[in-house]
Parts: sequence; structure tokens; C-alpha cells
Amino acid sequence: MSSIDTLTGFPNRFGCLQMAEQLSSDAVVSGQPYAILWIDMDRFKQVNESFGHMGGDEVIKSLAIRFRTRMGGRAELCRMGADEFVLLVPRCDRDQAQRLATELCSTIEEPIAVGNLVLHPTASIGIAIFELGEGSLELLERADRAMLAAKTKGGQGVVCSGDEPIPGRLGVTLAREELAVENSLHFALENGGLCLHYQPIIHAHGHIEAVEALMRCSVNGESIPPGKFIPVAEKTGLIIRLGEWCLLQGAMHARRLFDAGYDTKVAINVSRAQLISPKFTQALHAALICSNAQPGQIELELTESLFMDVSDHVQRNLKNALAAGVRLAIDDFGTGYSCLANLKDIPAGKLKLDRAFVTVLPEDRRALSVVRAMTQLGHELGMTIVAEGCERQEEIDALLEVGVDAIQGYFYARPMPEEQLLPWLQQRSAT
Ligand code: C2E
Ligand code: MG
Ligand code: MG
Repeated sequence: MSSIDTLTGFPNRFGCLQMAEQLSSDAVVSGQPYAILWIDMDRFKQVNESFGHMGGDEVIKSLAIRFRTRMGGRAELCRMGADEFVLLVPRCDRDQAQRLATELCSTIEEPIAVGNLVLHPTASIGIAIFELGEGSLELLERADRAMLAAKTKGGQGVVCSGDEPIPGRLGVTLAREELAVENSLHFALENGGLCLHYQPIIHAHGHIEAVEALMRCSVNGESIPPGKFIPVAEKTGLIIRLGEWCLLQGAMHARRLFDAGYDTKVAINVSRAQLISPKFTQALHAALICSNAQPGQIELELTESLFMDVSDHVQRNLKNALAAGVRLAIDDFGTGYSCLANLKDIPAGKLKLDRAFVTVLPEDRRALSVVRAMTQLGHELGMTIVAEGCERQEEIDALLEVGVDAIQGYFYARPMPEEQLLPWLQQRSAT
């Protein structure tokens, strides 16, 4: 069987595999890695359709010449089929391979004249680096898969094997790191790796307005920050289970606080995915019944983006929550896309101004004017205004000055585990 491609004079698939085997044995002896770059031209079908197969062949030939000139003996060049090339690069690690791929992209992207038309070719490139013990075919397959991932991303790009997006359990495509977070969340749910921390919200008059329940996740002693796991939970739909868990734990905590003589509200964050689910009302009722909490002690924090398009399910769930006696708050207000005018349609009793407005105070007079206007409007609509993320006395002075009702932030307390909260509350009521 011939191992040479007649059009380009490069080794074909068969020749490529033979060379890969040789390079793998060399790499085992030298201990130096080698790289495979799998190149697939984008939209080549269109080239063949527009210029005919003869035109297509001309393009392939000019690309082959470009590759040979550019590589100048640094790599073995093979043609795997129609518009696919493979480069075998001895003594090449991942960083070098990535630089080489970028170099190749610019070589490929130089226009090619075909007849009286000009073609602007692009390619998708997959990279795989030889690993000890790996077969040559396996290595080529990894490079091919990486190339396909680059293609799926829209082409004209480079993907290294190991960086491809992979399907998560719920069918969503996740990056490798996200998949690891998803697995950790499953593990945490099943093995008690989740807990709630509570951050007090202090009223201008000095009493504790509420405590916000904030989810924490740790697996094998390593904690994952909410900024990392909440988006993955939302993407994969796991937030529904996590959210149900939070509702129940938060409500049980409210009951324990009540039994200890505190009617402090417990604010629980609720994601959009939970509220658009027809099962939300059922989960809320279950949490209230199982915990025997006072519904008025439970507050649901909803992000303002939820109110951009309020579906029937959301409306029904909010109506049912209010009917059950639960309170509603709008979280992170001012960061999303909704405007002040939307406030009149939202049945919430509390508005939480995002930390972004707070950190620039008191110096930023314009931000202060915005806070003043939001506070006035919120008050006219009968809402309590809370400022989030307050770390400095000057911020708090400015916020109270413009009429904000309550403050949440590290200045007073960081989120703390349940066992620390009760002593904290006791100490505070004693002073
Ligand atoms: P959020 O609901 O706006 O919660 C407030 C966040 O601000 C918390 O971050 C809190 O620790 C942080 N924070 C409070 N005071 C300060 C301060 O003075 N300075 C600074 N720099 N930060 C402060 P955390 O706990 O990391 O949570 C981040 C976000 O994750 C929350 O923002 C919320 O959107 C989401 N989240 C947390 N727990 C849950 C949950 O149980 N369910 C859902 N759906 N989302 C949650
Ligand atoms: Mg919140
Ligand atoms: Mg917030």
C-alpha cells in the first residue's frame, strides 16, 4: 500500500501512522515529548462547490507548499484526506505547539488567488502532545478530537487536547473545570458538603433587620467559592436541588432562631431557574411545613434580572409565596438591565442596592445621587432599602445620610456558620 499522497507528495494516513510510531519510540528513548497538530480547513466544501474539484486541488497544493516553506524541516507534514493535514513535530511541548499553531494560522490565512477570485482560507487546529504509554493511533485521535472541538467553537481557532468542552451529566456542554465543579456539587449534596453561613443585616435603628443565608460548599476539606459553583449549578440545573436544600435549611434555621427568642428574618437567595420551575411553590410549602417556621420570618432574595420577563410560572410562584406569608426582596439592584420604572410592578418589600454603588462612596457624588434617588423611589413604593457590601464607616455614614434603612457588610460582620450566629446575636443584644 502506498504511503504517499499523490497530490501533495506528503505521506498519507498510512504514512502518517508509521511516522507517528517512529516518533513515539524516539520520544520514549529521549524522554522528550512530541506534538501532533491536526489541521482542517474551514468551509472547504464551499471551495469545492465554487471552484470545482480542480480548483479545490489547486488550493490544497498551494497550502501544502506554504506549510512546507513555513516549517522548513521543523515538522513532518502529512495529508490525511480531502482538506486535512497533520504535522508531526519532534521535541515539542504544549507551549511550543501552541505558538506553532498560531504561526500556522497566519500562514493559512494569507489570501489565495483561484482563477480571478480571491479566497480567504481559515482552519481549525487540534493539538495533542504524546504521553508515555499512549499508542500512536490514540494520540492521533486526540488531536482529531481537539480539532473537532475547535470546529465546534466556530472554526478559525486552536484547541489543545484536554481543553475541549465535554458534555455534563445534564447534557449541557461544560469546560473541564466546570465539570469538576459539577461533580463536586453532586458529591457535596450526597455527602454533607454543603452548609449555610449567615450574614447579619443591621437596621439604622440598631436592631438586626435579617440574616442572609449564603451557601458554602466544600469537598475533601477544600472549599469552592459561590462565585464558582453557583453559575455551574445554574447552568446544569443542579440549582433546583441546591435551592430546595437551602429553602429547607434556611427555614429550619429561622425556626431555631424563633425558638431561641429571635424573630429575625432569614433571607434565602433564589435563582431564576428555581422560580421559573412549576415545582417551586411545592418546594417552598414543603420547607415551611417541615420546618414549622413562621412564613413571615422567611424572605426570598430574587435578582432584578428576573423581572425583565416575568413568565406565568414566575408570576404564579411569586403570588403563591406572598399568599403563604413569605416576604420578597430584590437583590443586587442596579447591576442588571431593569430600570427604576420596573419597580412598581414587583411585589417586593425590600430593595438591596448592589455593592457597586457602595464601594465608590462617599467620594463619588454622582453615585450618591443615584443611591438617593433609588432610596426615595423605593420608599415611595413602601420598600425597605438595604445597602450591600459595606466595609467602611464613611460608606455607612453616606448611605444613612441619604436615607438607606439597613446595612449589610464586612464592617459589621462577615457571613458566619450557624453555631457562631446565636452567640453573635446574644452579644449584640447585650450591648
Ligand atoms: P449576594 O446574594 O448578593 O450575597 C452577598 C455577597 O456579598 C456574599 O458573597 C457576601 O459574602 C458578600 N459580601 C457581604 N458583605 C461584603 C463586604 O462587605 N465586602 C465584600 N467584598 N463582599 C461582601 P458570597 O457568599 O460569596 O455569595 C455570592 C453570591 O452567590 C451571592 O450574592 C448570591 O448571588 C450567590 N449565592 C450565595 N448563596 C446562594 C444560594 O444559597 N442560592 C443562590 N441561588 N445563590 C446564592
Ligand atoms: Mg443575596
Ligand atoms: Mg446581593
